[in-house]
Amino acid sequence: MSDCVFCMIASGAIPATIVWQDEGIVAFADLNPQAPVHILIIPREHYTGMADDVPADVLAALLQAAPRVAEAAGVADSGYRLVVNTGPDAGQTVPHLHMHLLGGAALAEGMVRLA
Ligand code: AMP
Ligand code: ZN
Repeated sequence: MSDCVFCMIASGAIPATIVWQDEGIVAFADLNPQAPVHILIIPREHYTGMADDVPADVLAALLQAAPRVAEAAGVADSGYRLVVNTGPDAGQTVPHLHMHLLGGAALAEGMVRLA
C-alpha cells in the first residue's frame, strides 16, 4: 500500500533502523520505545491487522522471526515479550500488521492495564 508507513519502511522508501530481515519479514526499532529494546516485526506484505484473515504461512513467519530478532538484539537469553495490538481498544495506531518485541529490562508483571 503506497500510503502505509510500514510498507514504506519494508520497501526502503523511508528509513528505519533495521535489526533483522529476510525475504518475508522486516524487524526495525520502534521510533518511540517503551522498553530498552523495542522492535517492530512486520510482514513485507500489507495486512491491516489480525482481523485480516492473514495466511498461516505469514503468521508463522512473523512468529518464527521473533527468536532470531531477539538474538540479533541481544535479548534471546534475558527474555522478551511479544505483543500484537489489534483495533482501537488495544491502541493499534498503524494499520499494517506488526508484532512488538519488548525487552532489555524486567517488564511490568501482568499484561493488562486498563487505560
Ligand atoms: P501500535 O500502537 O501497536 O499500532 O504500534 C505502532 C508503533 O509504531 C508505535 O509504537 C510507534 O512508535 C511505531 N512507529 C510509528 N511510526 C514509526 C516509524 N516510522 N518507525 C518506527 N516506528 C514507528
Ligand atoms: Zn502496509
